[in-house]
Amino acid sequence: MTADNPAAGTSAATAGTSGPRLLAGGPIAAEIRDALGTDFAAFKERWGYVPTLAVVLVGADAPSAVYLQQILRTCQRVGVEGRLVEIGSEVTADAVCNEIERLNADPAVAGIIVQMPLPAHIPLHAVIDSIDPAKDIDGIHPRNAGLLSLGYDGFLPATAQAAVEILKRSGIEIVGKRVVVVGRSNVVGKPAALLLLREHGSVTVLHSRTRDLGHYTRDAEILVVAAGRPGLIRGDMLSPGVVVVDVGINVVGDKLLGDVDFESARDVVSAITPVPGGVGPLTNALLLSHLLRAATDQAERGAAATAGTAAASAAGAAGQ
Ligand code: NAP
Repeated sequence: MTADNPAAGTSAATAGTSGPRLLAGGPIAAEIRDALGTDFAAFKERWGYVPTLAVVLVGADAPSAVYLQQILRTCQRVGVEGRLVEIGSEVTADAVCNEIERLNADPAVAGIIVQMPLPAHIPLHAVIDSIDPAKDIDGIHPRNAGLLSLGYDGFLPATAQAAVEILKRSGIEIVGKRVVVVGRSNVVGKPAALLLLREHGSVTVLHSRTRDLGHYTRDAEILVVAAGRPGLIRGDMLSPGVVVVDVGINVVGDKLLGDVDFESARDVVSAITPVPGGVGPLTNALLLSHLLRAATDQAERGAAATAGTAAASAAGAAGQ
């Protein structure tokens, strides 16, 4: 392995002879969760209730099931209520939207996430549009996506944010680096590219119509892969010393595999996120930090509205 890629930075190039530096999300996630545990306890103390994260699952598929167990476990760890809302795959889009409207109106529910993919007959846009942007803690509503693209402070898609945070918190410099993102989905690739641009990387985005993927990936100093294709990126498609963030989670037999072929990549990269144990744990911790922000905003707005109503009635009574 060589580490002649400046993106690796000194702190990333710690592989020695035993292989690349593994950018583990677990320890970073644990730090975030510890702080969240304290913050959610303070929230309960101040507002008198525990906020709920509603996880809407329409039908079921294998990656969703894996992700679901993880998020519910993380809820438990930080002391928030995780509510699984299971809807059979045979329902109509209207039924799904009605369920989301109910969650929008439920004051205990501070955040709503909808597990993807949805069954093919349910239009994604209808479901996304029905989520209250103030409860859209995974940043999929057009309002939050628009805020991200303009550089404002909406809710960020947690996986894309995790892909960038793992680099930043591992001390890997992004400014001015040639950053390549494989994948352009609205939930991962596109927002990750926007966030990396915000960090001043020089970003190229690849997708299924890109001709000669390796031509671009070999140019990367930082490579973020979110394609959902196990082993898509092999070692011969990488330049020595590249830092790789593998967002892919693919269930293959009884294994979870990333989009990067770890065995052939390990001798080339300076640092890489493992699958599992890389981006995944951090995603959940960040999602719950968004839940804290959503819950706090909602509680403060509720209190301000109540105070406003009380002041208006007092003024009304005084004027009589
Ligand atoms: P997605 O919606 O299926 O999007 C995949 C993207 O990859 C698309 O933009 C697609 O291009 C591109 N792509 C597919 N095959 C390609 C190929 N052969 N060459 C180049 N680009 C290709 O998937 P997603 O929701 O973004 O998720 C991506 C991966 O991340 C999945 O493995 C998913 O399980 C994983 N994931 C992980 C987490 C986590 O917490 N770690 C969370 C969410 C998702 P087109 O646009 O041209 O179709």
